[in-house]
Amino acid sequence: MQNIDWSKLPFGYFKTDYNVRCYYRDGKWGEVEVSSSEFINIHMAATCLHYGQEAFEGMKAYRGKDGKIRLFRWKDNAQRMRDSAQGIMMAELPDDIFFKMVSKVVKLNEKYVPPYGTGAALYIRPLTIGTGVQVGVSPAKEYMFMVFVGPVGPYFKEGFNPVTMQIVRDFDRAAPLGTGAIKVGGNYAGSLRASERAKAEGFSAVLFLEAKEKKYIDEAGPANFFAIKGNKYITPKSVSILPSITNKSLMQLAQDLGLEVERRAVAVEELADFDEVGACGTAAIISPIKKIVDRETGTTYEFCKDGKVGPFSEKLYKKLQAIQYGEEADTHGWVTILE
Ligand SMILES: *Cc1c(COP(=O)(O)O)cnc(C)c1O
Repeated sequence: MQNIDWSKLPFGYFKTDYNVRCYYRDGKWGEVEVSSSEFINIHMAATCLHYGQEAFEGMKAYRGKDGKIRLFRWKDNAQRMRDSAQGIMMAELPDDIFFKMVSKVVKLNEKYVPPYGTGAALYIRPLTIGTGVQVGVSPAKEYMFMVFVGPVGPYFKEGFNPVTMQIVRDFDRAAPLGTGAIKVGGNYAGSLRASERAKAEGFSAVLFLEAKEKKYIDEAGPANFFAIKGNKYITPKSVSILPSITNKSLMQLAQDLGLEVERRAVAVEELADFDEVGACGTAAIISPIKKIVDRETGTTYEFCKDGKVGPFSEKLYKKLQAIQYGEEADTHGWVTILE
């Protein structure tokens, strides 16, 4: 194995030794298989290739202060994978197989779990695809669930440093009664044009608006949005938002810190009154936002004016990471130590 400079890892693909796979055929899930190939062999008429029967998850394994490997709220990921499968009519994977496969692939690639203190973690990518053959539009009869892993650094190259975002009005990420609330690849395909343009224009990500009225904030690219105003933690409520497990955890920690939590429609104009704003998700945990520009109107909202990350964003970030790395007591029962 090459020497890995753990603290300089990008957020990207990294080849490890093994991945795990399980096939759904004849109405049931089969045995778990271990593979060292980075490739999969599927039929050219598989539904994942034509009709988007694909859903994924994103989670991390953290090397704790005590050297032990921790998974964070894996049951929520397993449940969300089942919700996604249900949403696009794929076979649902039982939670026990999900856990068995995730823990197996992490343990098989244990040497790639970054050491404690490097700020890196082992990213875990479970996915389900329709492998059955269909040419007419209908759900496949066969599925494949697999999990691969790889060490990653922070999602945004800025790390825990403020990023800039762009509000767009000429693209939507997801329709209100569409697939926005489930983790399917198609949502990402649909957001690529807006997000690549935002990057070309100097922003880290797009702040998408709720598609029907274009008045409310939906999501911050591949992450949820939150704001702090006085003693309130505010996060948008909308049917097209992907329910982030990080956001759910931050809401709980905000409450623990004595903040009031509001989950409601958040109008764009409110940005002018917020003390702190940020994006949250497994990949970056929290990305504080320093500037948001409305591409159409040119209106600019600025935060972190003293160049520093807001105090509540920082507290929440540190608190969540402390739990994930086993530095603080896991009072909510979020952590599973892999024995
Ligand atoms: C995965 C994802 C998130 C973040 O969810 P976490 O469970 O916190 O990782 C947010 N928004 C979208 C669109 C996502 O796909």
